[in-house]
Amino acid sequence: MKNECDIVKDLLFSYNDGVLSSASKELVENHLKTCENCKNALEEIKSENEKRKAVKEIDIFKYVKRNLTKKNIIILIGLIVLLLIIMFNILVFKNYNEIASTAEIYLKDDITEEQVENIKNKIIEVSENLELEYVSKDKALERLKNNFNDNQNLLDGYNSQNNPLQASIAIKTNTNIQTIIDNIQNMPGISNIKTHINCNPYELFISKLMQ
Ligand SMILES: [Zn+2]
Repeated sequence: MKNECDIVKDLLFSYNDGVLSSASKELVENHLKTCENCKNALEEIKSENEKRKAVKEIDIFKYVKRNLTKKNIIILIGLIVLLLIIMFNILVFKNYNEIASTAEIYLKDDITEEQVENIKNKIIEVSENLELEYVSKDKALERLKNNFNDNQNLLDGYNSQNNPLQASIAIKTNTNIQTIIDNIQNMPGISNIKTHINCNPYELFISKLMQ
C-alpha cells in the first residue's frame, strides 16, 4: 500500500478543493475507506484550510482598519454630504413642480356671473387634469379669518359689506400654467393672475418648511 499512499497523498489537496476528475476521486475515496493514515492526512489538510481562512478574514478586517485613514474618512463624509445635497434638491424641485402647477386668478369686483363662467370654461377647454375652485369674496374672507386663528379680532371690522378681498379662481393642472395664462389674460373681469412659475424653488421650499 506504500506506493498508493504516496499517490493519494499527492491527490489529497486537489481532492479537498474538489477539483479531481471522477476517476481520481473514486481512487482517493476507495483508498480512504481502508487507510487510517491518509484519512488523518486529509483531516489535517482540512483543519489547515480552516485556519488559513480565519487568518484571511482577520487580514481583511485589518486592511479595512488600516485604510480607514483620515483622508478616507473625509472622502466618506464628502460623499454623505453630496448625497444629502442631492436628496435636498430632489425635494426642492418636487415641491416646486407641485406649486408651479397652481395659479390664482383674481377677479374684479364688478365681474358678472357670465364673465366668471366664460373664464372657467376657457380654462377647462385648454387644461388637462384640472382641479378648479371658485373662491368668492365671502369665502376668501372666511378663510383668512380661519387662518388668523388667535387673532381673528383683527378682522372683526370686516364683513361682506366692506370685504377688501377679491374673488378668485384657484387652479391646479398638469398643463403648463403659462399656456393657460396666455389663453385667458385678456378676458374681461380678471384683475390679476398670481403664479409661482418664476419663483425661486429654494425660497418656496424654505417658506413651506417655515409654515
Ligand atoms: Zn494511505
